[in-house]
Amino acid sequence: MRVVIVGGGITGLSAAYFLERAMTEGRWRGEIVLIERATRLGGKILTVREDGFVVEGGPDSILRVKPEGMALLRELGLEEEVITPGSRTVYRLHRGQLVPIPEALLALRPDPRAILRTRGLPWWGRIRALLEPWIPPRRDEGDEPLAAFLRRRFGRAFAEDIAEPLTAGIHAGDPERLSTQALYPHLLALERQFGSIARGLRGVGPFPPSDPLFVSLRSGMGALVDRLVASLQRTHIRMGRTVIGLALSGEGNARRYRVALEDGETLEADRVVLTVPAMEAARQIAAFAPATAARLREIPFASPVVVTLAFRRDQVAHPLQGSGFLVPRKVPFPLTGCTWISSKWPGRAPEEFVLLRAFLREEGNREAIEEEDSVLIQRSMEALRPLLGLHGDPVRAWVHRWPQGMPQYTVGHLERLQAIEEAFRAFPGLLLTGASYRGIGIPDLIRQAREAVTRLLSAHEIGRPDPLTATCGEDRPSAEEIIR
Ligand SMILES: Cc1cc2nc3c(=O)[nH]c(=O)nc-3n(C[C@H](O)[C@H](O)[C@H](O)COP(=O)(O)OP(=O)(O)OC[C@H]3O[C@@H](n4cnc5c(N)ncnc54)[C@H](O)[C@@H]3O)c2cc1C
Repeated sequence: MRVVIVGGGITGLSAAYFLERAMTEGRWRGEIVLIERATRLGGKILTVREDGFVVEGGPDSILRVKPEGMALLRELGLEEEVITPGSRTVYRLHRGQLVPIPEALLALRPDPRAILRTRGLPWWGRIRALLEPWIPPRRDEGDEPLAAFLRRRFGRAFAEDIAEPLTAGIHAGDPERLSTQALYPHLLALERQFGSIARGLRGVGPFPPSDPLFVSLRSGMGALVDRLVASLQRTHIRMGRTVIGLALSGEGNARRYRVALEDGETLEADRVVLTVPAMEAARQIAAFAPATAARLREIPFASPVVVTLAFRRDQVAHPLQGSGFLVPRKVPFPLTGCTWISSKWPGRAPEEFVLLRAFLREEGNREAIEEEDSVLIQRSMEALRPLLGLHGDPVRAWVHRWPQGMPQYTVGHLERLQAIEEAFRAFPGLLLTGASYRGIGIPDLIRQAREAVTRLLSAHEIGRPDPLTATCGEDRPSAEEIIR
């Protein structure tokens, strides 16, 4: 049996890893081929190491509380590489000043003391947020825009100043369009089950937890890719090859797939795991499933641009005691946020330098992705100069563009997915997974890859179900289970 995995980002590499593991455990035998368009592996995970600087073009951290990420780091022997943030304080831009966000609020835990301590939030905004336990839950079970959900629960001031930047901000998205159901199902579940988020979380563990929410790797997230690739002993990896389309042959359980590459080569496959972004997956299935391809194309994407700047310490007046700042949507500013990389993570810059990572705002500035590097660097610097007291030009700068790089789970995303997944049932052995569907974070993608492999093995009765994916739980999960 030959399995072809399309895409060599974290999802595709993890799928190859779990398939190899099934092979090692004697649960499966076959050939694995991984096809990657680029001449490097890792997809959005991209670490540049230059002259003592460790610069992340894409992700710079892993959410620790989702177990799949940490489990894979352990299995790959990367525990020693794990680093934790040097400072956890996150600021927000308010009337031209950077004001700290109380730590308890970073995980959207509406702790009354933290709400009362929130600087720059009007008194009526604080009182409205404190009333959250008494706001009746919504009766409608349908999806709701994230912004509407946050306003409904916490009131406009808290939602716009605190909750939106912490949620929609990390998705580079518009909270008026993003789906609460798809992105924050645990908040909805707390509301439904306990009538309120604050009430649901009452008594759940100490907060802020002593362990940090996020971790990273000493030599950058690229180390995860390097280690994962090094662990793949039996996968035939073909880089610099583009899949342009799939074709069907055979019927039912004897269904096979022909994978066409841009250079004219065709591969026969018994199973195909598509881990590419939705619009690419659409192109690949368009010949035999045009309606499903059209639904895949409905998933919109944002195009983040990240500018990383290195300065000598003496060029920066601000003490940078924190991990960075976020910018609420209503504040006119060219950036959505900035991470103070050299304060957040140890070892990212030589001692005498600081490293800043600016996220360009896409909204109303759609051409950012098209602009020259020099323009983007200048724009970031001018925005940061008065806030951080920057003197002179950066000693180095890196620009990373991700055209159509960030899937947007907009309202109705889960229904769209349901229809797509339903349609895929007609194609046994063809699996669709990756950041466009059920979670964009690295631990989510490792989980999705593992689940895809479990489906791939169990759908054809060739393996035991993976005990790790067996779900257990009571009819009414506890708040601990919900937030986990
Ligand atoms: C700027 C930025 C910051 C982020 N920060 C974080 C963070 O801190 N923490 C976190 O957990 N997540 C973060 N994310 C999200 C996370 O990085 C991504 O969701 C994840 O890396 C996507 O992995 P993937 O394997 O699903 O897709 P990708 O990484 O997109 O991989 C898909 C691969 O398929 C290949 N491909 C595409 N088309 C074809 C084709 N036709 N034939 C062959 N190959 C093809 C591509 O070249 C690519 O390598 C961030 C993302 C961005 C852009």
